[in-house]
Amino acid sequence: MYMNDSTAETLKMLLKFAAAGTITNEVYKNACEKVKVEKLYYDMDLGDSGRYRDKRTREVVIHGTKVGNNIVLYNSGRKTGIKLMFPYYYDGREFVHAFIEFSEDVSGSDIDKDQYAVLADAIYVIASRENMRSMLDFAEATDAQSGIPNVIHITKRFDNEIMKTGKGEEYAVLYINLQNFKYINETATSKCGDEAIIKYSWIVHGFVEPYESLARMGGDNFTAFVRKENLQSILEKLHSVTLNKLENAPGRTFEISSWIGVSQGIPHDPRPFNARLNEASTACGIGKTKLKQNVVFFSEELKMMMNRGREIMSMFYPAIKNREFHPFFQPKVNMETGALVGFEALCRWIHEGRFIFPDQFIPVLDKEGLIHDLDMAIFRETCRIIKEWKDMGLKPPRVSSNFSRKNLFIPNIEEMIYDTILETGISTDDVEVEITESVQESETERLFGFVRRLKEFGIHISIDDFGTGYSSLMLIHNIDADILKIDKSFVDALPGDHKSEVLIESIIGIAKNLNMALIAEGVETAEQGRELVRLGCPIAQGYFYSKPVEKDAACEMIKSDPFKPVI
Ligand code: C2E
Ligand code: CA
Ligand code: CA
Repeated sequence: MYMNDSTAETLKMLLKFAAAGTITNEVYKNACEKVKVEKLYYDMDLGDSGRYRDKRTREVVIHGTKVGNNIVLYNSGRKTGIKLMFPYYYDGREFVHAFIEFSEDVSGSDIDKDQYAVLADAIYVIASRENMRSMLDFAEATDAQSGIPNVIHITKRFDNEIMKTGKGEEYAVLYINLQNFKYINETATSKCGDEAIIKYSWIVHGFVEPYESLARMGGDNFTAFVRKENLQSILEKLHSVTLNKLENAPGRTFEISSWIGVSQGIPHDPRPFNARLNEASTACGIGKTKLKQNVVFFSEELKMMMNRGREIMSMFYPAIKNREFHPFFQPKVNMETGALVGFEALCRWIHEGRFIFPDQFIPVLDKEGLIHDLDMAIFRETCRIIKEWKDMGLKPPRVSSNFSRKNLFIPNIEEMIYDTILETGISTDDVEVEITESVQESETERLFGFVRRLKEFGIHISIDDFGTGYSSLMLIHNIDADILKIDKSFVDALPGDHKSEVLIESIIGIAKNLNMALIAEGVETAEQGRELVRLGCPIAQGYFYSKPVEKDAACEMIKSDPFKPVI
């Protein structure tokens, strides 16, 4: 028998290293040289069991392509002679072969096949473990749906390759949120949405250089780090990405644009990826919700804006408890007669003697899901004040109160509104609920239900900011609201703007046909008032008559009915 002892010895050594998990190329080389093996490899047919990353090119190979073949543990590069092959079943279905190729000068009779079978076993165990590890590494670092890197991968790469080498300031970190991706899911199938996100992922993954990275964070969010000199060109490419030739949407083309936040870093930036990503996502969020700007660079100012949001959140419940929120009342006037016909209750936050106006806190509360508590607090206080006025023997006109659309998702919101009216001892005729129309289909259904239920209780409803949504005309045909509030933007263009006049006239025509009342918002001048009267909308609310005033001033208005006709 040839090399009996050294084979046994080599085996032992290999198994020892394998058990310790410290096997290296050097170990294989030593082992193979000892037993005159020139080539040691295995072949693994993964069939179409999934995606895999090519060992050498590090490229991902998706479904259906054989990958991982000939994973080579040792190759001397010299010519080989006899070759042994040992078959294995992997995972019960995938076929693996371990191969041992010997030096030219080794003859068949020299080889104890049984002993090499044990060696092959060892190779197989080691190799499949390595393979498993690389599969796990790959799975851990890969977005399961698309196959591009995930956030774990990009974080590791940035922290190891960029941060540790002190190159942080040379790179920009991006947070990317797709703008109109929902549109694909809504207008095509969700299968098409899945296909589209995979395709999009690979397209944008192709925008970055090997020394950069782009990863999917989940959903329609992505992140990337790119060298600053490449930033502009990448932003341009991301601005609009064309998706076509989708199997699930033949013949259709989608243009995907996105909200992008950029962290440009600071000189000698020592921070890890997470810190940079936070900046980028803050900038992205502000671009999307506040600035309506596609690309936003993180700055200290933005940080203050954010902190302001956080500050408001933390101040909110204490402020509710301290009764710092008050309804102010803006009169609604019949411009033909000068009669006071209503009020709108508008929220004012009086904190330590200072006024905080709605635009500073309503959007924050709305986004963070706290708005319902504010709306109910203002509504209850409004009802209470109406009761006070009635108890004084006055006949206050109807007062409207604002309800954010987020209320549509509060169970039994309609009952809560009705109960508040009953509990404060006023009548459903004394109040009106203002809600803006919905753009989203999911909300539209709820809006219909909300209006229907309030109507059953006898509560009046107005559609606020009418004309600014997308579905206005479709919406009002299906909705049983009492009043349309024509948005200030139409009134602003009066008099003189022909288009606005035509629009207002058609809104008035529709409202009349549907038996709905109308009011124009934001009337600031007598000219605007006269024009509205001429067009057929005599009821108005606006600075021309009065700004919102506190309850005692409103009470005086009820007593004296101080307004004059515009004509
Ligand atoms: P909105 O419901 O459209 O209310 C009308 C806004 O326009 C009010 O601003 C009012 O003061 C202002 N305004 C009225 N007439 C004129 C005018 O002639 N010229 C100009 N330039 N502005 C005029 P305000 O009080 O700052 O409220 C802003 C927005 O905040 C409201 O818009 C409403 O959407 C929201 N809001 C106010 N109070 C509440 C509340 O209690 N709950 C909810 N959910 N939202 C509220
Ligand atoms: Ca309103
Ligand atoms: Ca409005």
